[in-house]
Amino acid sequence: MDTRSPGQEDGTVPLPILRRLTQPLTRRLLAGLFAGVLPLAGAALGAAASRESSPQALVERASVEVRIDPEASRREAESALAALSAQPDPDLEIRARLLLCDYYAERDRSAAEEQIAAITSLLPQAQRPGLRAGMLNCQGQSLETIGANLEARDLYDQAVSAAGGAGDEQMLAEALFSRGYLRGLSGEYAAALNDLRRAQALFEQQRMPQHALAALDSIAIVYNRMGDYAEAAQMLERAIEAQHGAGLKREEAVTWHNLGRADENLRRWNSARSAYASALELSTQLGYARGQAYALRGLASVADAEGDPNAALELLDRAERFQQRTPDARLLAQIDLVRGRALHQLKQLRQSAALLEQALALFRQADSPGELSSAYDELAAVRAELGDWRDAFDARTLAQSTATRLLRNQLDQRFALLKVEFDTDLKEKRNALLTRENAANELALAQQRKASRLQTAVIVLTVLLLAMLAVLAVHQRRNSLRLRTLAMTDELTGVSNRRAVLTGLAQLLRRGGSPISILIIDIDHFKTINDRYGHLVGDETLKIMTANLRDTLPPPAFLGRLGGEEFAAVLPATDLQRARATAESLRERVMLMDLSRWLGDRHLTVSIGIATSIPARDTIGSMLRRADAALYAAKDAGRNCVRCEAATSEAAPELAPRVA
Ligand code: GH3
Ligand code: MG
Ligand code: MG
Repeated sequence: MDTRSPGQEDGTVPLPILRRLTQPLTRRLLAGLFAGVLPLAGAALGAAASRESSPQALVERASVEVRIDPEASRREAESALAALSAQPDPDLEIRARLLLCDYYAERDRSAAEEQIAAITSLLPQAQRPGLRAGMLNCQGQSLETIGANLEARDLYDQAVSAAGGAGDEQMLAEALFSRGYLRGLSGEYAAALNDLRRAQALFEQQRMPQHALAALDSIAIVYNRMGDYAEAAQMLERAIEAQHGAGLKREEAVTWHNLGRADENLRRWNSARSAYASALELSTQLGYARGQAYALRGLASVADAEGDPNAALELLDRAERFQQRTPDARLLAQIDLVRGRALHQLKQLRQSAALLEQALALFRQADSPGELSSAYDELAAVRAELGDWRDAFDARTLAQSTATRLLRNQLDQRFALLKVEFDTDLKEKRNALLTRENAANELALAQQRKASRLQTAVIVLTVLLLAMLAVLAVHQRRNSLRLRTLAMTDELTGVSNRRAVLTGLAQLLRRGGSPISILIIDIDHFKTINDRYGHLVGDETLKIMTANLRDTLPPPAFLGRLGGEEFAAVLPATDLQRARATAESLRERVMLMDLSRWLGDRHLTVSIGIATSIPARDTIGSMLRRADAALYAAKDAGRNCVRCEAATSEAAPELAPRVA
C-alpha cells in the first residue's frame, strides 16, 4: 500500500447480513475453519454431503457454506426444504428459509419476500421463539437493500427487542449486527459501535468467530464513516487476513471492497485500485454479482480520481450490468454519482447533473450524509459550469450544510464515543479499585481471623503449659516429700531413722526450756534370735517390737531406730523420773509381747539406758554418750532392766558421773 492522505468520500458495502442459526455441529465445523483446517473440513463436508442428506445436516451445511460459497449455501437450503416436505419440522424449515431470505435479500427482493411470507406462516408452530427476531431481521435487510433504511431500522429495533425478550442471544447478536451497521450509515456512530461491539462479544461468546469477524468488519466501516480512515483500514486488513486464512471468500471480497473505500478516502489510489481488483477477482470467482458491481464502481471511482473518465465510464457500464442482478438501490446511486463525475470531467454537464440529481434522491432516502455531501458538491460544480447559478448556489449550500452536519455529527459522535470509552474506563478502574479494596479487606479480615485463632491457640497452649507445670510442681513436691520421708524413715520398721530422730532431738535441745529425756532401747541377745530362727524372723520381731514401743510411748514422745536392734525414744519435757517410768513400761510391754508364732515360748527383753538433758548445756552427742553409758550399765547389770546415767562433767562439769 502507498502513502495515504485524508479524503471525504464515504459509502461502504454492508456485509451481507447473514443470520445463521448455528447449532453445535456447525459451531464445531466453524471452529475447525478457524483452526486452519478448512481444507480438511471442506473435504469432510464434501464427503458428508454425499452421505448425509437429512434436512438437519443440510441446514447445518448451508449455514457453513453461506460464508464460503453462497450459491452452494442456497442449493443446500433448497435441498433441505425439499427433504422437509416429506418430514416437516417447522424450526428447521424456518432456519432453511432464513438462509434463503438472507441469500435473496441482496439479490432478488420478491424471492426474499416469498421466504418472509413462508416464515410468517410457519412461526406459530415454531418451538424457538427467537426465530421471529430472525424473520424481522431479514425483512429489515430486504428493505435496507432497496434503500428503505428508516423502515429497515424500525424492523431491526423490533428484532433486537424480540431476540432480547426471547433470551435468544444468537438472534440478538444478529439483530444488533444489522442495526449497528444501519446506525453507522445514518451517522449514529457511538450507538452503532455500541451495537456492533455487543454483537461481536455475543458472537465470540457463542463461539461464532466468523460472525464476530463480520462484526469487526462493520466496526471498521463505522470508523471509516467517522473519518478515521487509517484506523478503519488497519482493522480491515486484519479482518482480510483472518477471512483469507479461514477461506471465507465472500466475506473477504466484501472486506477488500471496504478497504478500497478506506483507501479512497485516504486518497491512496494505488492501494484502492488493488483492493477493488482483489474484491472483483474474488467476486467473479464466486459469481457474486453484487460484489462485482461494487468492485467495478470502486475501480471507476479511482479512474475518475486519476483523470481517466472514459475508463471510468466503461467500468461503470460493466458495474451496472451486475447491479441489475441485485435490487441494491444505493449501489445504483453510487454508480450514478461516479458516472456523473466522469461525465462532468467529459463536460457532458446536463447528463452529469441529471445523474447526480438521481443519486441524490436515493441518498436522501437512505439518509447517508457522506454520500449526500459528495453528490451535492459535485452537482454544485456542474451547475456552476452550466451557468445555473441559482441551482449551483443551492447545491453548494446543501453540500456545505450536509458536510457541516456530517462533520459536526462526526465530532459529536466521537465525543460521545470518547465519553462512553472514558466512562467505561473509569467504571472499570473504579471496579478494579473496589475489587482490590475488597480483596485487601478480605485479606485483612482473614489475617485478623488468623491472628485471633493464633491468639486463642497461644492462650490455650499457655493454660495447658501452666496446668502441666502445676501438675509437675505438685508431682515434684510430692516426690520430694516422699524422698524426704524416705530419707527420714526406717525402711524396715516404718518409724523415724537415726537421722530423723536425732534431728528431732536437736530441735528440742535448741528450743531449750524443760528437760528432755532420751531412752536408748537395745534388744537383748538378738543375735541368737537371728541365729536360731533366721533373719526373716528377726526382721518380723523387730517390726512387732517397734509397733509395741510406739503404741506405749505417750505423745509428744517419739520413737526412732538408731540401727540394728537399737532404738531411741525421745521424751520432750520429761524429767528423769518420768522417763524412768516410761522406760519401765516399755520394757514390760516388750517382755509381755506374744511372739509365740515366731519364737515359740521365748520372750524378748530389752535393756534401756536413760539420759535426761541439762537444759542449755547438753548436745546430742553428750546426751547419746550418757544414754549409751546407761545402756551398757543395764547390760552389765544382767539385761532386761533400765539404767540412768547422770549428767557428766562434759555436760555439767560440776556433777560427778554416776549410774543410778
Ligand atoms: P546384747 O544383748 O549384748 O545386745 O547381744 P546381742 O546379740 O543383741 O548384740 P550383738 O551386738 O552381739 O548383736 C546384734 C545383732 O543384731 C547382730 C545382728 O545379726 C542383729 N541385727 C542387727 N540388725 C538387724 C536387722 O536389721 N535384722 C535382723 N534380723 N537382725 C539384725
Ligand atoms: Mg545392740
Ligand atoms: Mg542387743
